[in-house]
This record gives sequence, C-alpha cells and structure tokens, in this order.
Amino acid sequence: MTADLATLTGIDIPTGLLIGGRWGSGRGGMLPVTDPATEDVIAEVASATPEDALEAVAAAHDALPGWSARPPRERGECLRRAFELMIDRTEALARLMVIENGKALRDARGEITYAAEFFRWYSEEAVRNEGSLGLAPSGANRIMVVRQPVGVSVLVTPWNFPAAMATRKIGPALAAGCTVVLKPAKETPLSALAIAAILAEAGVPEGVVNVLPTTKPGPLVGAMLADPRVRKLSFTGSTEVGRALLRTAADTVTNCSMELGGNAPFLVFEDADIEAAVDGAFLAKMRNGGEACTAANRFYVHDAVAGEFTARLADRLSKLSVGPGLDDGVDLGPLVNSDTRSKVASLVESATQDGGRLVIGGQVPDRRGYFYPATVLDDVPRGAGILDAEIFGPVAPVVRFTDQADAIAQANKTEYGLVSYLYTRDLRRGLQVAEALEAGMIGINRGVVSDPAAPFGGVKQSGLGREGGHDGLLEFTETKYIAVDW
Ligand code: NAD
Repeated sequence: MTADLATLTGIDIPTGLLIGGRWGSGRGGMLPVTDPATEDVIAEVASATPEDALEAVAAAHDALPGWSARPPRERGECLRRAFELMIDRTEALARLMVIENGKALRDARGEITYAAEFFRWYSEEAVRNEGSLGLAPSGANRIMVVRQPVGVSVLVTPWNFPAAMATRKIGPALAAGCTVVLKPAKETPLSALAIAAILAEAGVPEGVVNVLPTTKPGPLVGAMLADPRVRKLSFTGSTEVGRALLRTAADTVTNCSMELGGNAPFLVFEDADIEAAVDGAFLAKMRNGGEACTAANRFYVHDAVAGEFTARLADRLSKLSVGPGLDDGVDLGPLVNSDTRSKVASLVESATQDGGRLVIGGQVPDRRGYFYPATVLDDVPRGAGILDAEIFGPVAPVVRFTDQADAIAQANKTEYGLVSYLYTRDLRRGLQVAEALEAGMIGINRGVVSDPAAPFGGVKQSGLGREGGHDGLLEFTETKYIAVDW
C-alpha cells in the first residue's frame, strides 16, 4: 500500500499483483504511475511477467468449477455488494482516477457511478441466464438450448475509462459464472486494483478475479492466449492492437469480444434545435476531455446553421476552466500523456494546413502537465487528415454540408463504426438517417449513448460483440444445443 495515495484518496490502494486471492510482488519489477497534471510519478505497482500470467490463469482455472456452480443469486449478490461499496467510496475512487488519468473530478465521479452501475445491472442479469426450448420443424424431437459460462476469461482494458471498462467486463463475466484475469492499461492500473479489492470485500472468492498490471502487455497477453485453459478474450482498446490480438487468438480459436476505436460523426441538420445540438455536442465532445471512443470526432453541420452552431459551441468551450483535475471548478484536465498530446497538437496543425480555420484553442500551454485547450476548427475541408484519425482530445473540427445524402456518405466514409450522433426536429428524418448510418450505436438528439442497460459496441473496424445490456452477459456464455427426444 502507498501512504501518499491513502492520504490523497482516504482509502488504502493495493499496489501488488492479485493472483489467487494473494497480493504479490510479481517477477517483472515495478511499473511507475504518473500524474498527467504534474508529470510526477505518484505510485509504483508490481509489473507482471508471462510466468505470473500463467499462475493467474491457473488460479482462475482452479476457481472456475466452484464459482460457476454457485447459485446465480449468490453471484449476483456479490456484484450487488460491490456496487454498493463502489458507490459508498465514489469520492475516493474518483480522486484516485484523477491522479492516474488526469480527467476532471466531475468526469471521474460520473465514471465511478457509471462503472458501479455495471455491477448493479449484472447483479440483476446473473439470474436471467435463460435458454430456450422448441419443437423441431419435423415435430420429431425437442431443441433445447442452454447457455453455459465460456470459462476463464482474459480482460484487457484501456486507460481512458479505467474503472468503467473493467466493471463492464468483470460484471457480466462473473454474472455468467466465468473467472477472469484482468490486465489494465499501464497508465491506469490503480483503479483496477482498487476495484479488485472491493470485489474481494464483497465476497468474491479467491482466484475468481486476478489482476495483472504490466509494463510489457504483448508477451503477457500472448502467453495467456496460447494457454488452452483460456477460453475468452474481451478487449477494449485501439483497433490496431485489437487486430493484432485477433490474429494471436486465431491460433487457439479463442472466443473474442472486441471494443475498438471510433471516429464518430455528429450531424446537425438545418431543422435542428441549435441550443440542444450545442448541448449535445458539448457532451459528445467533452466527456472525458475528448478521450473517449464515443467522442464526437467530426461535426457535419448544415451550411444554413453552421455559423450559429460553431460560434455557440466555441463560446461554450472557451469558458471551460483548464487545470489539474482535482482543483475546484476545473472542467478540463490534462491529456493522459505526452504522446497523446503531441498527436492531438499535430492533428490540429495539419487541419489548419489543410485549410481549416482555427476558431479557438490550438496552442499547447506553457506549463507543466499534459494540457491541451478546447479547440474548434471551422470550414475543415473534406479530405483533411484530421477527419480520418481518432483525435482523442478536446478538438472539434466542423465540416459544412448542404445535401443530406452527401452528409451521410461523408459520415460513413471511415473504417470505424462505433457511434454516430444526429440532430433534427424531424423524427422521421432522424430515424431514416439513423438506419443509413454505419454505426453500432446512434444518438438522435442525444450527445451521450452509454448506458449499462444498453448494448454498446461497434460495426466495421470498431469491434465485434456488445457490452452492457443482456447482450453483454451472452458474450461470456457458450450456447449448448441439446437434442432431446422424450
Ligand atoms: P491500446 O490499444 O493502446 O491499449 C489497450 C490495452 O491493450 C491496454 O491495456 C494496453 O496495455 C494493451 N495492449 C497494448 N498493446 C498490446 C499488445 N501488443 N498485446 C496485448 N495487449 C496490448 O489503447 P489505449 O490507448 O489504452 O486506449 C485508447 C483506445 O481505446 C482508443 O482507440 C479508443 O477508441 C479505444 N476504446 C474503445 C472503447 C470501446 O468501447 N469501443 C472504449 C474505450 C476506449
């Protein structure tokens, strides 16, 4: 346990590896965790090696028969207790997240509530693992379908939602009767470790949840995927790493769920309620400081309303207070690390070179910490590089359009397909456009779509499978068909 973290958060935060119910030091030395607001190392956690990973797989494998045989109600009650513990400790967990991730405290509090809700939702879903029974078309026999836990599951999560991406996987896995090895991102291992401690306190048995931070994710995850005891990979992260993991998983034909990158279009039609569209744009762009897979990445705005929309959005964003996430009144914290900020800054620079007009922002401030200001670019031409990249920062490029079919074509012109947003007062138009947009999720007159009760996920190269809702539970089950004659 690190004393400083305890002072900053008010709770003890584990810093070891969790394998088979024991916190250990592992074989891979230490992983430093940096506060993006100060660039200071604020903790060191144990770093796991492939050998540690195989130990964790063995622990998860040993715990599997007992956990999967537990009455679903009991599994659900563990998750329910974990939900309550997380909610009780919202403030401490939110502060911890700010220190390792940088996001503003308001965003971190919102994430802890959102993250805890996955435990509540899956505490309820644990008792709804339903199969089916039907009569074969021939009438000769019955078709019985049951859903069994897929088995030991490897969960790999990103740094941008350090708590919610972990609970969105652990919740359904445990509800379905699976045991897990979680590998959090190296930037944000502390939130994952804190959540694992809460699950233990909530009564989850030893070995059911194992957590392995590491400085070397490739060999660690590779070793686990090569082990036939591992039956599932649930990954959230970039499309690039997702592709590589799908290739690795092919060797053992491991069941994969992939939540990958996004490049969300945000369409504002000429009949939109502009005030509502600006509110929605603000949420879709600025939740998590723009470091969200669901972040609005390209604003396609009808020429008739583009001037007003852009001016109002820029006015709103220019009033944001930028600073360390823990400071009172701060709306926008730093980006997670120096590489992320360099990428954002170079995308903005290339957009202005491509002909985009800087309305606000665009300058890296001269201060410590990985800060970048809210930035709006107007008149960004089609074909500008910024429209193809996942920005992952507080930057809003606006492209003007006049023709609906063309706007839809532009919106779909990407390898990604996670989420799309559109604003119109005409619901008929809204639903028609929603059907034409190539995305797994659509927000109509809504700037936030995430909901633990809804199926979250993408089409095209944004992923495979869904998390949340009932679909999220099914991802951790295998369908077994039993042909019956009675
Ligand atoms: P990343 O792909 O770099 O890392 C994600 C996770 O994979 C981390 O735990 C990382 O340590 C691990 N990893 C990295 N290289 C690996 C390898 N070779 N083998 C095994 N594991 C490896 O992504 P990131 O920068 O942490 O997160 C940002 C990305 O995540 C963005 O693209 C964002 O859109 C995506 N994301 C998607 C969703 C979604 O639900 N679709 C949600 C949040 C973030």
